[in-house]
Amino acid sequence: MFDRTVKHHPSKKHQFSRRQILFGLGAVGSVATLGLCGSASAAAYLLGREVKFSRESQTPIAKTATPTASPEPAPPHPQIVSRAEWGALVPDHEAINEFGFYSEDNPEGWFIYENELQDAYQTAIIHHAAFYEETDLRTVKAIQDLHRIDRGWADVAYHFMVGRTGVIYEGRDWTVRGTHVASYNTGSLGVCLLGNFMNQHPTDAQIASTRRLLIWVAYRLQLSHIAAHRTFNALTQCPGDNLFSRLPEFAAAANLQIGTAGYIPPDEALDCTCCTCNSD
Ligand SMILES: [Zn+2]
Repeated sequence: MFDRTVKHHPSKKHQFSRRQILFGLGAVGSVATLGLCGSASAAAYLLGREVKFSRESQTPIAKTATPTASPEPAPPHPQIVSRAEWGALVPDHEAINEFGFYSEDNPEGWFIYENELQDAYQTAIIHHAAFYEETDLRTVKAIQDLHRIDRGWADVAYHFMVGRTGVIYEGRDWTVRGTHVASYNTGSLGVCLLGNFMNQHPTDAQIASTRRLLIWVAYRLQLSHIAAHRTFNALTQCPGDNLFSRLPEFAAAANLQIGTAGYIPPDEALDCTCCTCNSD
């Protein structure tokens, strides 16, 4: 399931990253991938406005300028069906509930992260689609239609979707803030498993692919936490009891902490030294 609202707006200017603050405060806990280099990836991100961010890179952008003595090996890149491959529609920025593009006057608009994605993201949030339509592909397209037509959004809410066959689909461009968890979208990566896990179980292939995806994306984005949608938004059953119970194994596999503690409200994450950022 999904939610539209975005309560906070992100900063425009950072002198230090959110992660740098977290590391400085010792608040991140077991994130163990400091110091890994990836200047090519950094360059790709900096070009992200013109060149689509590459999912193919195996190397995360460095958190620090000094590499560690023995960097961890990169986990394998899972196969991901691209938007073009599954026939995604281009985002509709005229959508009535997408609110146009982000600006200071429109903080809930379509927001493209300006900082490095490793600094933008903290938490993977697990969802279920709450329905299934005969095949994975039909369900993915149905989700995009649902979000665009019924919800009035520009695009599918989630960043990744995992089918019952184990196929992983690219969702909303991950350089863009999602619309999948009310009030907590900034810094939250949306991962949706296809099906309704209140009355069915995820398949073994689906669980295995989700594990691979999370291991890779947690490393790639240097996430610290994983949480169920219901943990952030108590009124939803998402991701269903039968998927909610699988979070501990996802967390263990991807070396993530469970819960909402990784979330950083954008206003609190404004690490500028000026005094205007926290005035609103
Ligand atoms: Zn959900």
